[in-house]
Amino acid sequence: MKFLIFILLISFSFPFFSEEFLILSGNATQGGILIGNVHQDVEQVFWNEKNLAISDQKIIIGFDRDEPLEHQISLIFKNGEIIKKDFLISKREYEIQRIDKIKKEYVEKPVDKNLLRRISNESKSLQAVRSGIYKENDIMFEEFIRPIEEGKISGVFGSQRILNGIPKSPHSGLDIAAPKGTPVKAMSNGIVALIGDYFYNGKFVLIDHGLGLSSIYIHLDSIAVELGQNVEIGEQIGSVGSTGRATGPHLHWGVNYFKKRIDPELLLDQDEKFLIIKK
Ligand SMILES: [Zn+2]
Repeated sequence: MKFLIFILLISFSFPFFSEEFLILSGNATQGGILIGNVHQDVEQVFWNEKNLAISDQKIIIGFDRDEPLEHQISLIFKNGEIIKKDFLISKREYEIQRIDKIKKEYVEKPVDKNLLRRISNESKSLQAVRSGIYKENDIMFEEFIRPIEEGKISGVFGSQRILNGIPKSPHSGLDIAAPKGTPVKAMSNGIVALIGDYFYNGKFVLIDHGLGLSSIYIHLDSIAVELGQNVEIGEQIGSVGSTGRATGPHLHWGVNYFKKRIDPELLLDQDEKFLIIKK
């Protein structure tokens, strides 16, 4: 019994095996994220050139849709020691999706100057919030859920859309078809960083989860939260609709790591250990 208590004490006082200085878990692929547990002897973590924020001994790395495959992670220890490790992520194949019979004004470039200005301003607001221009928040996320439990996936991440025969930018999120009014829930804990009613998005909610991770819920019929409000995982933030550029009621669920586009489906499976850095 005494021995057992001793073992328990040891494991509580050392949350890591003593020689593991970084444990990266998640999806090492384009559109994936890796979440890292950082040992307390580590002072700074660099991913390529980027000095990563460490919050609650955690870091996050996110790979864009077309992210280059070669990466390097560097640990700088409090005693000045440095460990560098190269790693590779895997390449994805994306599907091509053709959608016809979309209202002309949503597909062709608008000519109305006021509308062009509106679209440009709306895009800038979104990017400004995502790039953490105001503040890079501490970690708020723990785990992730699908914002709608039921509902068929009607559009996957990364697919190249050809709308009415015109090639568009790749699909940046996951579309889930559901009846109008279906509750939409926050994928994780966070703070409401932006809400609005934009030309393309319609009504939307953008949630900052900390460390550069954000999620967006678009084409909503209604919004149930306010700007700056704290939300908990699973809390209702709005309801499914078809506002903005939508062919029918569905949720477009997007996830970003700063400006990089992340595949929401991959986020739901973060458990696999990818890389462990030891001395
Ligand atoms: Zn979509």
